Amino acid sequence: MHRYICAGCNQEIGPGRFLSCLGSVWHPQCFRCKACGDPISGSQFALSGSDRYHKECYRDLYHPKCEVCHQFIPPNSSGLIEYRAHPFWGQKYCPLHEKDSTPRCCSCERVEARDARFVSLDDGRKLCLECLDSAVMDTHECQHLYHEILDFYEGMNMKISQSIPMLLVERQALNEAREHERDGYHHLPETRGLCLSEEQTVSTVYRKPKASRSNPVGSMRKESLRLRRQCEVTAILVLYGLPRLLTGSILAHELMHAWLRLNGELPELLNPAVEEGICQVMAHTWLESQIGSSGGSSSSSSGGKQKPKSINNDRFQEFFLHQIAMDSSPAYGDGFRAGHQSVVQFGLSRTLEHIKLTGSFPV
Ligand SMILES: [Zn+2]
Ligand SMILES: [Zn+2]
Ligand SMILES: [Zn+2]
Ligand SMILES: [Zn+2]
Ligand SMILES: [Zn+2]
Repeated sequence: MHRYICAGCNQEIGPGRFLSCLGSVWHPQCFRCKACGDPISGSQFALSGSDRYHKECYRDLYHPKCEVCHQFIPPNSSGLIEYRAHPFWGQKYCPLHEKDSTPRCCSCERVEARDARFVSLDDGRKLCLECLDSAVMDTHECQHLYHEILDFYEGMNMKISQSIPMLLVERQALNEAREHERDGYHHLPETRGLCLSEEQTVSTVYRKPKASRSNPVGSMRKESLRLRRQCEVTAILVLYGLPRLLTGSILAHELMHAWLRLNGELPELLNPAVEEGICQVMAHTWLESQIGSSGGSSSSSSGGKQKPKSINNDRFQEFFLHQIAMDSSPAYGDGFRAGHQSVVQFGLSRTLEHIKLTGSFPV
């Protein structure tokens, strides 16, 4: 009589039930799932190479799950599994969440997961709790950071001695102020900062004390301010509610516009790729100088005691650097890359001299 040897345990299979599969025979209890280790009964199982899995276990392992709705990402009309993934965070989600009004954080671009709600800012923007953790909400609070950036300019031998007001504003106020400026070049789709040259009345934001657990953002107070021209630059405006690192990099960007206007002798109209490019170089340089910074130290905290599971502050810094470096727009992205290359090759002061003389980056 032929003797059957189990491919699982190498023991003889005596009388009784056995399975025949993959050209071998098995004790039923030896035919096990590679993932969970339990026997596979029934005729449905998944194979990967010679490894056997329960269908469900295989799906758990290999079928991508959506990080927004936490369901398996459904196949598209051609039967393929198609998902979106953020280029930096790698967050995977169903394509439909781009159209079903799932909120996206206005700072880090991640999409709101169903079980981790974002907070709403008064002007309609959404902010994730990790970005909220170091968000700068109040014009008074932000002055300290503003002075850090001014010191950074002084440290680069680019002291800005005129005193320029710096105000935090809501999105609508920023867009209105932008429309009142003569030179209308700006970052699409969303402007986050502005260097004003015109006399305007601007509505600025302050936070009322005190944020509570039920209202982690706190309530905001607005105040209108008439800006008078004391020099070529009337004010720096920055969107409120953004994390300290992002707020600082926007300030560094806008202060470069200010520096260019105040240190004049520029060609009449600077090519946007040169002007925005060198401003982004300054934002990038400041961000790089913040390695290991504590994040929330000089700004607000969100108030509530419970901290969201925190992504390392360094990851946010990397993200903001990545955003500048990978920007696809001709002015900000190509401009930054050309400016960065020039500064690496010739140094900042020679690059600035060259811009003053020719309106272009040295090559
Ligand atoms: Zn066996
Ligand atoms: Zn299993
Ligand atoms: Zn989903
Ligand atoms: Zn965020
Ligand atoms: Zn700019």
